[in-house]
Amino acid sequence: MNKNKIFQLLLIVLVFDFSACAKSKSSSAVKQTASEQAQPVINPELEKLNRVLFSMSDRCKAAIPNGNPEEFLADLHKVLDVEKNFRSDDLSLYFLIDKKHKVGSDYVPKDLMAVKGNDLWNVSRNDLSLRPEAYAALEDLSRAALNDGIKLLVSSTYRSYQYQEGLFNRYVKQDGEALAERYSARPGTSQHQLGVAIDFGSITDDWGDTKMGKWVYEHAAEHGWSLSFPQGYEDVTGYMWECWHFRYIGKEACRFQKKWFSDIQQFMLEFIDAWEKAE
Ligand SMILES: [Zn+2]
Repeated sequence: MNKNKIFQLLLIVLVFDFSACAKSKSSSAVKQTASEQAQPVINPELEKLNRVLFSMSDRCKAAIPNGNPEEFLADLHKVLDVEKNFRSDDLSLYFLIDKKHKVGSDYVPKDLMAVKGNDLWNVSRNDLSLRPEAYAALEDLSRAALNDGIKLLVSSTYRSYQYQEGLFNRYVKQDGEALAERYSARPGTSQHQLGVAIDFGSITDDWGDTKMGKWVYEHAAEHGWSLSFPQGYEDVTGYMWECWHFRYIGKEACRFQKKWFSDIQQFMLEFIDAWEKAE
């Protein structure tokens, strides 16, 4: 029996326990037996976890390893609690944006900070900016890179809806719509519009094999940055592999993603989205 099966069976058992529990309550509504009174308190969130997990795609479910649901919930709450330290007057750092989940043409992150070249990093252009949380996390990442003798090159950051629209239309003209869809986001669907994504280096596949590319791949998560479009997951993320594109989600979420979602950001953000929308 593989690990995923065990976790799924465990969940089925939990569902079963819950229905049994509900029945016993309704059939003996007034007087509980001694054995019922002795039953341990069941975490009410387990039932919600079952519902949310069963609503996820088969591929996402298959990515979740064997584990204790109570531990999963404890880890989830750590991730959700961390976000309370961040500003509450802007979109969640875990906001799901993809081909199906969009923001409006007027959405601009609050208090964007200009990202100019400095002692910590180089830039490819002078009109870059990030959300404050992502800016601080870039400082953190860049300091660690410098300690290892690498100065990062930041090439693309926040993009407005209008800028993304121009970019996407240009790619459609160049490569046709079908191909452009695989590597460029339609306006309103880009992580770049959220001000939390960075494209590093040359923005080409071979950057992944450079010293800088290897270092970022190895250490990004330690500083809260997550690879958004990994190799082999185009049918999940909607995009071809992009070794240069990282999204800031925070260190705790990076740990959660690695431990419970096979390190696939899309699965974790889909789960959090479903969790927050569930009753
Ligand atoms: Zn990008």
